[in-house]
Amino acid sequence: MFDSLKSELTRRTLLYKAGFGLIAVSTFGTIGTILKPTRTLAQAGPAPTKEPSLPPEKKLGWAVVGLGKFATEQIMPSFGECKRSKLVALVSGVDAFAERLVEKRLVARHRTKAERLAQQYGVNRKNIYNYQNYDTIRDNPEVDVIYIILPNGLHAEYSIRGAQAGKHIMCEKPMANTVEECQAMIAAAKKSDRKLMIAYRAQYEPYNLAAIELAQSGKLGKLKAITSDHGRNLDPKDPADRWRANKKLAGGGSLYDIGIYSLQAARYITGEEPQEISAMIYSTPGDPRFREVEENVNFVLRFPSGVLANCTSSYGYSDTKRLQVFGSDAVLELDPATDYYQHRLIIKRKDTNEEQNIQEKNQFALEMDHLSESIMANKQPKTPGEEGLQDVRLMQLIYEAARTGRTIKV
Ligand code: NDP
Repeated sequence: MFDSLKSELTRRTLLYKAGFGLIAVSTFGTIGTILKPTRTLAQAGPAPTKEPSLPPEKKLGWAVVGLGKFATEQIMPSFGECKRSKLVALVSGVDAFAERLVEKRLVARHRTKAERLAQQYGVNRKNIYNYQNYDTIRDNPEVDVIYIILPNGLHAEYSIRGAQAGKHIMCEKPMANTVEECQAMIAAAKKSDRKLMIAYRAQYEPYNLAAIELAQSGKLGKLKAITSDHGRNLDPKDPADRWRANKKLAGGGSLYDIGIYSLQAARYITGEEPQEISAMIYSTPGDPRFREVEENVNFVLRFPSGVLANCTSSYGYSDTKRLQVFGSDAVLELDPATDYYQHRLIIKRKDTNEEQNIQEKNQFALEMDHLSESIMANKQPKTPGEEGLQDVRLMQLIYEAARTGRTIKV
């Protein structure tokens, strides 16, 4: 057993050895030929590229709304790697919906949290807002962009109020609970002549960009099928998961939260929009986590080119975030596909497996800088509100297909 572990470690060490891009390993596990030197596919990475960081006074000022798990653990630390974006304001407190549910003393606790984070990130105390005085952010010229990282059911309200305050908006996925909310968000941004971008980080992440390039350039042959699976166990003890079990705050269950990554992957890998959808939903009877939202959704999408995508999402199976693209010449495996770091991309051909060594980049910094750059250049961001609307529309059709048992024409 030790010997097999040792040889596995040696194999993996070789696979990850710095300086080599592609190493071929036969499907039976022996080391094959080195195919190519490093970094070819990383060049498919998004802007900003080699340009230097702007001086602080030239960077756009961002306000983060909702200081929860994702904001504090991923987004706020990533400003340190941004070249065009800086954190200048925080919005935290007790929102109108929560106010009915919690005691007033929570207001003081939220203020303490915001002050602690403001100090940690060098944000001026005067730039701490709550959900009640949020609209006065319009009078703060330091804030150019507002990043909404609230429970899904609050995205529309705070994006619209932010746009009405004259600020550009970055909004987390899923864009909102309903198609109508998404349309209202797009209309509000348009009316205020502000940009609206949905934070689809995978579309700025180098491994996913490489997968898109490989799939769409014909390097896998003709695309035939895609599978993508996103699942984890919903944990009622985690405060970040409590609102996810609440339909009003979450909009939906596993599909809205993580199945959306499978849906996105099928769309960005093909570069097409699905024409037909079929689906099934199953939630474990009696499991209190699934009183309001669904546990498992399996759905099939048919694309115009004939590609069939088979996707699953679950709040009940162990952590999975993977993508497979089946071409007539090769199969691409990205696993994990949509993690924060440490992705793995393997191309499987008849006799070889090739692992692609791509330079990891901070996808959160890349996506934030993309919006800042789009604002500076007055360009439409790559993932605008319309992209978020399309996913919400398709997820509603997935629910309809499951409910009716029919294949839905899009
Ligand atoms: P959290 O619950 O950890 O954070 C949400 C924060 O919103 C809370 O901490 C709170 O901040 C604020 N809030 C305001 N009103 C409420 C309310 N009624 N109930 C609960 N929180 C409220 O969730 P996450 O950080 O995990 O998710 C936030 C958003 O980010 C979601 O839209 C999610 O889909 C998205 N997300 C995206 C990820 C990605 O990879 N792109 C990964 C994880 C999440 P405060 O106390 O400061 O007011």
